[in-house]
Amino acid sequence: MSDDKLLEIKDLSIHYFTEEGIVRAVNNVQLSLRRGETLGLVGETGAGKTTTALGIMGLVPDPPGRVVSGEILFGGRDLLRLNKGQMRRHRGKDISMIFQDPMTSLNPIMTMGDQIAEVIRLHEKLSRADANRKAAQVLEMVGIPAQRMNEYPHQFSGGMKQRVVIAIALACNPQLIIADEPTTALDVTIQAQVLELMSQLQSELHTSMLIITHDLGVVADSCQSVAIMYAGRIVESGRIEDIYEDTKHPYTKGLFSSLPSLSTKVKRLKPILGLMPDPANLPAGCPFHPRCDSCMPICTELDPQDTGLGNGHMVRCHLYGQHDAGEDLA
Ligand code: SF4
Repeated sequence: MSDDKLLEIKDLSIHYFTEEGIVRAVNNVQLSLRRGETLGLVGETGAGKTTTALGIMGLVPDPPGRVVSGEILFGGRDLLRLNKGQMRRHRGKDISMIFQDPMTSLNPIMTMGDQIAEVIRLHEKLSRADANRKAAQVLEMVGIPAQRMNEYPHQFSGGMKQRVVIAIALACNPQLIIADEPTTALDVTIQAQVLELMSQLQSELHTSMLIITHDLGVVADSCQSVAIMYAGRIVESGRIEDIYEDTKHPYTKGLFSSLPSLSTKVKRLKPILGLMPDPANLPAGCPFHPRCDSCMPICTELDPQDTGLGNGHMVRCHLYGQHDAGEDLA
């Protein structure tokens, strides 16, 4: 692993073993994140984004979930080999997570200051007074006056609550923050402020960030790299400029053509027809083939492999693979 890579996920598969069958939520995912970089993980609901994040955090509910293959290298160390105690020490200190709805992350009967100080004391050997002092600093960092330390969540607006959640995530100076749809529950105007705050803090503190979203606009504003996820696979990934200006995968193209554009006079948006397949019942071959306008005979038989296009741009599609598109499958 090269030195500037903080996180490298290799061949990760996470399945849920249910009475109805095996739900293949994440399949052979490859992903890497450099130090100080922000990566957007994009896909529709059910694509496997959150399960990937839970895998990194060691929080896949087991049973029914299980990591069935792969490695999650964090600073070169495989997180999947850590025991529960070691993983608990990692969480919050080295890697922290911001969830979609601030109300599920905050305790309604604790003051905001106590909630931040509690995380600090859990991971750092500080006195109560020092932890409170640090909590006040972190609160100020996210734009909330320290005088509001003693207030409770119900006294804060949605946007302010999400700022506190960000403060909790930053409290122990983690190397990686995973933000799962961090602005979805907020009003549009507040979304922009929270994203701006996250970008500003990220560049000041040089923290790596994985932003999980279904919104390509959020990615364009905040990320340097992007990975597009479909049916538990990364189908295309690379630098923002390569993915946005030289889009290769038919699914990524579909995502862009379903977006309203201010710069071009597109009269009608073109949504991707059909639905993502049930992860308990994935089709043979390429899982996108039932929805793909470019589907070829090989696509219904053989799952494509990753193809590197240079400059870190990767695509998983037979249009770009080693197989001849007209290959005889008989
Ligand atoms: Fe479409 Fe075939 Fe590429 Fe899948 S492999 S995205 S079906 S062209």
